[in-house]
Amino acid sequence: SDTPSAHDLQALATATPERTDAFWMPFTANRQFKKSPRLLASAEGMYYRSVDGREVLDGTAGLWCVNAGHGHPHIVGAIQKQAATLDYAPAFQMGHPLPFILAERLAAIAPDPLKHVFFTNSGSESVDTALKIALAYHRVRGEGQRTRLIGREKGYHGVGFGGISVGGMVNNRKFFGSMLPGVDHLPHTLDIKRNGFSRGLPARGAELAEDLERIVALHDASTIAAVIIEPISGSAGVVLPPEGYLKRIREICDKHGILLIFDEVITGFGRVGKAFAAQRFGVVPDMITTAKGLTNGAVPMGAVFTSKGIHDAFMHGPEGAIELFHGYTYSGHPLACAAALATLDVYESEGLFEKSIELGPYWEDAIHSLKGLPNVIDVRNYGLVGAVELAARPEGVGQRGYEVFNRCYFEQNLMVRCTGDVIALSPPLILNKEHIDRIFDRLAATIRATA
Ligand code: PLP
Repeated sequence: SDTPSAHDLQALATATPERTDAFWMPFTANRQFKKSPRLLASAEGMYYRSVDGREVLDGTAGLWCVNAGHGHPHIVGAIQKQAATLDYAPAFQMGHPLPFILAERLAAIAPDPLKHVFFTNSGSESVDTALKIALAYHRVRGEGQRTRLIGREKGYHGVGFGGISVGGMVNNRKFFGSMLPGVDHLPHTLDIKRNGFSRGLPARGAELAEDLERIVALHDASTIAAVIIEPISGSAGVVLPPEGYLKRIREICDKHGILLIFDEVITGFGRVGKAFAAQRFGVVPDMITTAKGLTNGAVPMGAVFTSKGIHDAFMHGPEGAIELFHGYTYSGHPLACAAALATLDVYESEGLFEKSIELGPYWEDAIHSLKGLPNVIDVRNYGLVGAVELAARPEGVGQRGYEVFNRCYFEQNLMVRCTGDVIALSPPLILNKEHIDRIFDRLAATIRATA
């Protein structure tokens, strides 16, 4: 077979630099990684197996996406069957049944009135799609002057030019020129001085939503198309919305005719105890962007949920006219649809959306037991999401976080994520209390060892 075996990969793990040179890795310190590669060979349930044969507990559901656990036979079978039945069908002016069926099933679990679904292939594409729909929506309604977009500091909305423009992570922006024009940013809500070691949502900070009124007053509401925020920012190190904050943002958007987009690429599909964070927080946006957990990470796919009002605003004019000049060759790809449909079956049959509510209190106690360990300056949690913030080393921001992440992997067989000095956790939703104990025992041991 031409497929590299685990044995080949094992060789690669200790390879000369030439063997690892060709692949330019994304969001990775390439030269550092290639000196001591962290290579995974296979996965099942809560565990990866590394190329050197270790069982590595997955504390991050891959990249926040494998919510139903790895290699679920129902999902694997559906993908295999679909590949042998219909590998591809054109997405423009042609179709196949699966995206229609999938959209209907997704609409059924989405909050009212978000009952229309546009398919993409990633979170970044979902974000760019939602921003474009927002701009086009105002235009088709005769309000084409509404072109301004508002994001947030510390926001992560993927890596398209739209996403980095509304995003607020400096390194993701500063190398890439002047971005989209007419974008403002709300302040982020992380305040560890006031809210440090909060359990669940921080009590203080809802007033930060009022900054939206300031931006609206500065530009005039009639120029603003949309606000995009992550209900919980993941990539910036798990930043939680203060109690009442999202509701207030919704109210201000409503008052001024501004669309509200929730980027639920991370929080969607059960991460916080309902299908979507919008439902858990009781605040319904006009659009929701998703990806990741939609297919359990098994095949790339994203989806944008829009309200009926937005969708219907486009359904005018001659019947033969294309309503939205936007889409991807792989929108509604058969393999992705098959994976998503099977994933939804598993979420439903195994009750995984409820897991974050059932296990949330145990998770909360477990993660907060790390308070008091050396260099731990904050602990944050909500649903089955968590973050442990470490004090930066004097030599530089991110060094301690990286060391903990790397040692967790090599010494404790635990996969966590580091962003700067924040250790982020988001396990597959199939975990049990023993897995939770194991995650925090191993993380605590590593934090002590790096002190
Ligand atoms: N939006 C959010 C909130 C995300 O967390 C991510 C990825 O982590 C994205 C967008 C981008 O998704 P992708 O990497 O699939 O393009």
